[in-house]
Amino acid sequence: MQELAGQVAVVTGGSRGIGLAVSRAFAEAGARVAVIGRDGARAEQAVASLPGSGHGAHVCDVADSAAVSQVVEHIEAELGQISILVNNAGITRDNLVVRLRDDDWDAVLDANLKGAFHMIRAVARGMMRRRSGSIVNITSVVGLTGNAGQANYAASKAGLIGLTKSVAKELASRGIRCNAIAPGYIETDLTAALDEKRASAIRERIPLGRLGHPDDVAAAVRFLAGPAARYITGQVLVVDGGMVL
Ligand code: NDP
Repeated sequence: MQELAGQVAVVTGGSRGIGLAVSRAFAEAGARVAVIGRDGARAEQAVASLPGSGHGAHVCDVADSAAVSQVVEHIEAELGQISILVNNAGITRDNLVVRLRDDDWDAVLDANLKGAFHMIRAVARGMMRRRSGSIVNITSVVGLTGNAGQANYAASKAGLIGLTKSVAKELASRGIRCNAIAPGYIETDLTAALDEKRASAIRERIPLGRLGHPDDVAAAVRFLAGPAARYITGQVLVVDGGMVL
């Protein structure tokens, strides 16, 4: 079903991992997709792999407020008005809290939380004028539970949940929905560093018995972004194989 035909969707960090799976799911649903990443060649490669036509690759660091305003303007000029935004770009810089450097804190908060704020502010004006739009923020189960060794990352992801609920309340009257997805352990570059011993310990904590695939998250994003979720806003949908129950 091409339920997103005619729509323009922006996916930050759409060049690999979960973001690439989301971009593919949107393209399959008929949307034109603007992929944002820091590495231009990788973003171009991602766009070339998408089904359909009219997609675009864009280089932008979402932590840079001015760059975000420019890229959103550029996307709207090139592809048309943005109706879907997925804030997926994210990084980790793990360490125990007493060893975290200021720079580890700032880099993670700037990319994961401030970046989402920059993007939402830049696309919301157009969505408000058109009285329609859908925003999905990719948080994490650790934003709900906390995680030793990830104070900066968990704080950024918990912050995204507060951002999601506030934006949902603020923009609902303008026909804009804002939801979040909290993935558990998904097999991507971000989790590739796990050795087999850790991976099998994690698997034991997951009732569905396996780590997640990016497509598992993409299916949930496609649902929340699209018309089937028209009466859902301000929610956090956990996609973790039952790990956090
Ligand atoms: P990857 O490391 O595989 O991909 C990250 C993507 O984000 C890349 O496309 C990267 O672009 C982009 N990116 C990172 N920082 C920036 C930035 N400042 N500006 C623009 N783009 C940026 O990550 P995953 O696919 O694993 O994760 C995607 C999201 O899902 C993240 O927010 C992550 O926190 C979240 N998540 C992941 C889980 C997992 O188990 N994998 C679990 C829970 C949540 P480039 O290629 O140019 O570097």
